[in-house]
Amino acid sequence: MNAQTPLKILLLSGGVGGAKMAEGFAYSRYAAAFSVLGNVADDQMFHGLWVSPDIDTLTYTLSEQIDREKGWGLKGETNRVLEQLKKLGSDTWMYLGDQDFATHIFRTELRQQGVRASEIARKIAASFGLELPILLPTDDTIQTRVRTTDGWIPFQDYFVKQGCQPEVLEVRIEGINEARPTPEAISAIAEADLIVIAPSNPIVSINPILSVPGIADALLDSTAFKVAVSPIVAGKTVKGPADRMMQVAGHSADVLGVADYYRGLIDALIIDQQDLEHLPALDEKIANVLATDTLMFSRTNKVRLAETIVHLYEAVAQRKAAKARQRQAEVTPSLIDAVGSLNPAFREA
Ligand code: GDP
Repeated sequence: MNAQTPLKILLLSGGVGGAKMAEGFAYSRYAAAFSVLGNVADDQMFHGLWVSPDIDTLTYTLSEQIDREKGWGLKGETNRVLEQLKKLGSDTWMYLGDQDFATHIFRTELRQQGVRASEIARKIAASFGLELPILLPTDDTIQTRVRTTDGWIPFQDYFVKQGCQPEVLEVRIEGINEARPTPEAISAIAEADLIVIAPSNPIVSINPILSVPGIADALLDSTAFKVAVSPIVAGKTVKGPADRMMQVAGHSADVLGVADYYRGLIDALIIDQQDLEHLPALDEKIANVLATDTLMFSRTNKVRLAETIVHLYEAVAQRKAAKARQRQAEVTPSLIDAVGSLNPAFREA
């Protein structure tokens, strides 16, 4: 990296947890070439409108229009449309504010005209004055379904309507095998210097991105340094059902489970300082592990965490370069000796 070429950072992100990390990068010294790859498998139809909660959370957060208290939805919202829908007898458990409705109406209109989902997301972000790219892993429809004792239900029915209460027996992503990756996602992965997996729910926010055919291969092919931030702190999620879902997927609900989940894909794992006890076991699983404060309550916290991740990237890159120089210094004279002994003319050349 030098002053002319800013570090290209790509964040894989879900909704609320991921948006906090995105805000950290967007307001850091490393915002110049920062982009986000968001999750679209939480998308669902409400009142005939296509709602894309994670992408909207990213858009509203990064444009500073988010309702900070809730962590989702627009600030200063009213709910007259929802009230009226309720009077009409509609099921209104999914909270959608009046201005938020405009986003969903616009998205649905354009989808019906055949506009690519990525282009719709870009237009919505632009209308909020946002230039930072929010990329989609696919323009095709993929939807997470959760199996509870009542059978398969759409993700938002489990997450919002039932408040994550039912026991989750299985999770699947409808449409995933037929989904095609977007060219924007593939090139962002190929061009990135640093790829960060946000402290988002691994099962329902990150896995749908990784499962779009072509995305995991692009990540494996990429030479970027890849870092994940654990969404599980001291054996619990900060919010939401990720800990229980990790167990359903056969992993322990702690940082070791997160390490196992992303093993083979990441070069480094960031864990919270409350999880120091796991460092020795983690060292056997992941090459670089860093413990720090990962709780992002304020913008200062978020930016500090983002910059810590970049510092880790720089430290590892410097260590690698120093090792390579050392190897070169050791190898070069002995190689010259070896070649020289085969052909004495070589030394004079
Ligand atoms: P959703 O799509 O809205 O559920 O949001 P995400 O999947 O992006 O994020 C949910 C995850 O974020 C949960 O598992 C939380 O434990 C995690 N999370 C939320 N806030 C924080 C935080 O400040 N620090 C860390 N380490 N994890 C967080």
